Amino acid sequence: MRAKLGPRGSAALWAGKLTAALSRGLRRGGGTTLPGDVSRWVDPAILTKLARSLDQGTVVVTGTNGKTTTAALLRHILDAEGRQTVANQSGANLIFGVTAALVNQTAWSGDVPARAGVFEIDEASLPALVKEIAPGTILVTNLFRDQLDRYGELETTAGHIRRALSQGPEGVTAVLNADDPMVAALGEGLPRVLYAGLDDVSLLQPELSHGADAKFCPRCGSALAFDGVYFGHVGHYHCPTGDFTRPVPDVRATSIVIDGMERMRLRVADAREVEQVEVPLSGLYNAYNVVVAIAAARALGVPLSRSARALKNFAPAFGRMERIRVGGRPALLLLAKNPTGFNEVLRTAIRFGGGTSFLIALNDRIADGQDVSWIWDVDFEQLTNVARHIVVTGDRALDMRVRLKYAEISANRIEVVTEWPAALQGAAEATPEGETLFILPTYTAMLELRAVLTRQGALRPYWQRQTVEPKPDRS
Ligand SMILES: [Zn+2]
Repeated sequence: MRAKLGPRGSAALWAGKLTAALSRGLRRGGGTTLPGDVSRWVDPAILTKLARSLDQGTVVVTGTNGKTTTAALLRHILDAEGRQTVANQSGANLIFGVTAALVNQTAWSGDVPARAGVFEIDEASLPALVKEIAPGTILVTNLFRDQLDRYGELETTAGHIRRALSQGPEGVTAVLNADDPMVAALGEGLPRVLYAGLDDVSLLQPELSHGADAKFCPRCGSALAFDGVYFGHVGHYHCPTGDFTRPVPDVRATSIVIDGMERMRLRVADAREVEQVEVPLSGLYNAYNVVVAIAAARALGVPLSRSARALKNFAPAFGRMERIRVGGRPALLLLAKNPTGFNEVLRTAIRFGGGTSFLIALNDRIADGQDVSWIWDVDFEQLTNVARHIVVTGDRALDMRVRLKYAEISANRIEVVTEWPAALQGAAEATPEGETLFILPTYTAMLELRAVLTRQGALRPYWQRQTVEPKPDRS
């Protein structure tokens, strides 16, 4: 569909596309946000103008963990349905990144090849994005303390999302994680909500881990009573005073079988169908990503059975359970950027992957959180009796070594390597034959490691991973 841009919008589009072409030419990482900045400077309404062409619906995905995988799962389902989708690149999850994604994929003539949009966005940027693109569906994965907002700012974050949900267009559908109390509470008073959750009680764990938060009733502030948790504060709960309880999920997984790191099988039910869903992912946190993505697809009119069929050949997103080979060894790249995410990635690697060899890469740049004290909230004690060899690297490798020492991991099992290529090589060499190396980096450390792996030919550059290319101009 051709976007109605006007002279100013066309100028903005061309300025953005020129910027993208130039930055690609200069190998500046494919220009994932800069074209957005430039376009918006020329015409602040450019995003609104381009987004109007997405006539088959727009979904915005937000929350602390799981945004990238959830958006990728949903996009995979929609692509299998033959819907042309546009999505922002992982990490470009501010409004400039969304603008850049649409500018990059729109032809110079203003033709927008995509008809549906799937955008991941930071919680704080959500209200502004909703105002500009008026999405039909807003999906919230979960709310955890991030490494950046450690001191009770979760309420502020929930406030941003509540504001966005209430200013959405009339017909907006909220897709919410029923098992996260703070997320579930966001649905109160909204006209259209789809809840998704896990209903396999055999996997519930009795206690809250020490990194847990949001365990108080959002109505009266009493401590919530938990029948059990799947991880962190996510599970089956109710308020003892009776004023708040876990909503019954509209889309729920009634049985979850995790088969190593390769795949998991979920029995998923909604009001109409029950389906066996097989997906090449592992870990309970990914089971959540699957059910919320299926719920969002349903909001866009895709029945459960067709989502189930599509998910069989899903390929994990950028840095999230990405399979690679390093120094002849199979390796898994698992982004770990905050306490809850790190705990779940570790738990999955140990329990389902049998991991004994690790490369942990800790950076303290802006996108990672400059205060690395959050690593003290990660349960590295999980590694104490398991890890045979751990290579630590990154700007703050020494802090990580201290943390691991306090987890009573002996010094002869920890190796500090400062250079990225040497760290990868050392970790691969220490991985026994037939085993998998688990690479757990923070965000910018992942970018550094991926850059090395791309130079070595183990990975394709991420800006080549777009699946929707603009069609040639018809004019
Ligand atoms: Zn209460």
